[in-house]
Amino acid sequence: MDLEERVRSTRERVMAAAVRSGRAPESVTLVAVSKGRSPEDVRRVSDQGLTLFAESKVQEAKAKISMCPGRLRWHMIGHLQSNKARDAAFLFEMIQSVDSLALAEELNKVAGKIGKTLKILLEVNVAGESTKFGYRPDSVLADLPRINALANLEIHGLMGMAPWTGEVERVRPVFRNLKGLHDQCGGLLGAPMPVLSMGMSGDFEVAIEEGSTLVRIGTALFGPGRFATGFPNAR
Ligand SMILES: *Cc1c(COP(=O)(O)O)cnc(C)c1O
Repeated sequence: MDLEERVRSTRERVMAAAVRSGRAPESVTLVAVSKGRSPEDVRRVSDQGLTLFAESKVQEAKAKISMCPGRLRWHMIGHLQSNKARDAAFLFEMIQSVDSLALAEELNKVAGKIGKTLKILLEVNVAGESTKFGYRPDSVLADLPRINALANLEIHGLMGMAPWTGEVERVRPVFRNLKGLHDQCGGLLGAPMPVLSMGMSGDFEVAIEEGSTLVRIGTALFGPGRFATGFPNAR
């Protein structure tokens, strides 16, 4: 399959999974994860009509975004250190990987300085894996009211990652738990949160069936073989 075919077939699978779970095809947003990919790859995918991209490192994003078409929107999905919060606030429309009150407070401060309202998701370590970043589910509920009170941030929902397993059905309960927590957070805030970011190349169909509204897809769109760090001609 070439890149154009991969983009077409991935979009069809996303829409089919939405319809299968009783929702409108456009109720699920596809974010193209471009970490380790070149600006040329980004351009080829954006030529197919995708406009929302995600990066996992601020430094790589900073070099890459300026080389990509200007009409694209960018999300941050990787672990963010407070000292990169200012750059992140400039580069990204949404930070999906907010995993502490301290980081939220720092983002709120820098967003205020640049006069921007930053959309955020709280990242949850749903399966309790020690190798992953993210909130423990009970800590999300504890911090939610305080983060919600920060004037320059808008909480749009939660982001989570399922553990890697060879068998896709084993991740279904993990996604179901995250959806439960997402609903609980909406209850606590007094209004449902619009975004539930779950599902990657290997498990996005199950994630959509369990209520995902945003899938983060790299390999299925761009193909295998991304660069481990950065991208060629980055500097
Ligand atoms: C890399 C990455 C993805 C995309 O993974 P693929 O398996 O290539 O689709 C999604 N979410 C996060 C947080 C990632 O780091």
